[in-house]
Amino acid sequence: MLNTLMYMGNSWGNDYGVNNHENNSFQPRHGTIAGFYHYLQDKYLHHLRLINELQDCLERDELNLCYQPLIDLETGRTTRVEALLRWQHKHSGSISPEIFIPLAEQTGQIHALTSWVLDHALQQLHAWISGGINIDIAVNLSMCNLHDENFPALVIGLLDKWSIPPELLILEITEGMIMYDPELTIRVLRKLNDLGARLALDDFGAGYSSLSHLAGLPITELKIDRTLIMDMDKNSKNALIVRSTIELARKLDMKITAEGVENAAVCNILKEYGCNSAQGYFFSKPVNDIEFTSWFSNSGRDPCN
Ligand code: C2E
Ligand code: CA
Ligand code: CA
Repeated sequence: MLNTLMYMGNSWGNDYGVNNHENNSFQPRHGTIAGFYHYLQDKYLHHLRLINELQDCLERDELNLCYQPLIDLETGRTTRVEALLRWQHKHSGSISPEIFIPLAEQTGQIHALTSWVLDHALQQLHAWISGGINIDIAVNLSMCNLHDENFPALVIGLLDKWSIPPELLILEITEGMIMYDPELTIRVLRKLNDLGARLALDDFGAGYSSLSHLAGLPITELKIDRTLIMDMDKNSKNALIVRSTIELARKLDMKITAEGVENAAVCNILKEYGCNSAQGYFFSKPVNDIEFTSWFSNSGRDPCN
């Protein structure tokens, strides 16, 4: 039971990851094993409730997307947004995707969620392009999508519905998704690639993959994980890892994005290393569609470029 609870817990948040998922330390309320047990039990029950409520969060209109810009470091311009899912729960407030996505994956609800995200992201892109904002859009996938042979057909259908050229859609996957049943996953990845969508490997550097291992996959872009990027102006070891990743990725003809750029110093180091694009609070936090439109129209640029 403990294993189940720990797995479902995903992280030891303070209030079940609701509203403040940044706090990852467990604070035993009574400093005892019993206190710890009650904490796990509360958390388990809370997650069970969330699983039930996930069933109809779509009908209750509690989901929305926010968008975070990616900046081309050569031109300083915004070329893309990443769509990030939010669940505004009627009682608990904003629930982090890091809590509810793993729950949706365990229950199969992720298929409906991904389809909702793709539909709304492409609708929004259609509106932006119609209004003269020429960008592309990245959407996060889950392992379950890559184990679904029908998923590429869903993607084609939605691209068609919103008249979006496939190369304007970037599908972000992580290395963990490829490790489990690689044969099936690679088959689905190839179908997605054949239909013209681009594939980006997210969170690179957080796991164990080597670039040579990924070279045979139809992946054309890497996103370096924010744990390597955030402190690279102070952490020379991380800076070295980032530099050599960028050099190797360029030799493999891959485009590189750094995520988690929080200050000008990191942004300037990335430019010096030849990183293609960057994303992070230094440019903009994830914002809603209206805020993004106004940010893009007012500046939409790297403040240092
Ligand atoms: P991710 O794909 O790695 O998304 C980037 C996360 O980093 C976002 O967290 C974003 O708010 C955060 N971030 C961006 N810039 C910075 C920065 O400068 N500093 C720091 N500290 N954080 C930054 P968010 O929105 O909470 O999403 C967390 C994760 O949830 C995502 O990580 C992704 O794995 C998952 N997720 C979000 N939306 C979806 C979705 O539609 N489908 C699926 N399958 N997963 C999603
Ligand atoms: Ca991502
Ligand atoms: Ca990431």
